Amino acid sequence: MALELQGLSVRYGSIAAVSDVDITVADGEVVALLGPSGCGKSTLLRAVAGLERPAAGRIRWDGVDLAGVAVHRRDFGLVFQDGQLFPHKDVAANVAFGLRMHHVDRAERAERVDELLSLVGLKGYGERRVTELSGGEQQRVALARALAPKPRLLLLDEPLSALDRALREQLAVDLAALLRATGTTALVVTHDHDEAFTLADRVALMQAGRIRQVGPPDEVWRRPADDVVAGFLGCTTFVPAQADRDLVTSPLGEIALPGAGDGTVLLGLRANALRTDPGGFVRGEVVQRLHRRDHARLLVQLSGDGVPSGPVEAVAPVAGAPEPGDAIRLALDPDGIALTGQAS
Ligand code: ADP
Repeated sequence: MALELQGLSVRYGSIAAVSDVDITVADGEVVALLGPSGCGKSTLLRAVAGLERPAAGRIRWDGVDLAGVAVHRRDFGLVFQDGQLFPHKDVAANVAFGLRMHHVDRAERAERVDELLSLVGLKGYGERRVTELSGGEQQRVALARALAPKPRLLLLDEPLSALDRALREQLAVDLAALLRATGTTALVVTHDHDEAFTLADRVALMQAGRIRQVGPPDEVWRRPADDVVAGFLGCTTFVPAQADRDLVTSPLGEIALPGAGDGTVLLGLRANALRTDPGGFVRGEVVQRLHRRDHARLLVQLSGDGVPSGPVEAVAPVAGAPEPGDAIRLALDPDGIALTGQAS
């Protein structure tokens, strides 16, 4: 195991920012720490970097305890939300910074800078001033700078959060490809589900200083550990159900969910869990309709035994979407459903 945290706690005075965290990152693996703002993600990352001193626990790299190892001796690369480039240096000098610190000679430095700029899609940008770059380009430079000295671990703290949505999506895809192509071991902090799920081999869900669940993105998304995690992952309504192998039965009808297991479960419904369907099992009346880019979002008051008492979200195609007051039928869509074993 490359990075191993064991019982890690970090305090700011009386505030327990990180509590008893166990997590590992294997060689070449990308792990995303996902959680709401203030849950302790950055503090955890800063402790790994050596910028915060743990109150308890161990941080090990390849089995070696890092307590007492200074920040610059850990051979970890760091990328922050706002890049933190040197404004008075050009792009090449920014990327070369870590190489100079490692006393890499000039010719090798120039070669590595060119290589890195190509890798992040900024070939030929070496002499540009960083102040003349867009936000996305600046983050690419920050990434090139962090990767240049070949760090054994890359620590990324909300690397895409300062960018607008379309750019963020593109850069997340590029960053995922880049981390894989370079075999980089990375720990990335984000509050954005899409970003975590695009980048990571495993996602660690963090809440109130603790890790609630760790697993591959698909597993965490479909099988959140409990209703609190499910709530953070977009489930707004919970319905008790009975699972019998792959079939789950609830007041909303039957649905096939492979691997559901047996016994009592909780269906977590995301906004797209219920879709308008003339042959659907669920009946209700539209309370509100909102237009989204590619669908209509409905609030529906359901009727029937055991259905949620308050209005639930549902989706409809834009063309012919029902209006408030309309009686409609809905069907469950497995893509919008998470299954959790318990209410916390
Ligand atoms: P996140 O990265 O998930 O947004 P942080 O790690 O920044 O969360 O913060 C975790 C908790 O620690 C929060 O309650 C925050 O207010 C507190 N905190 C963070 N940095 C400091 C600090 N330097 N001094 C005191 N409290 C801090």
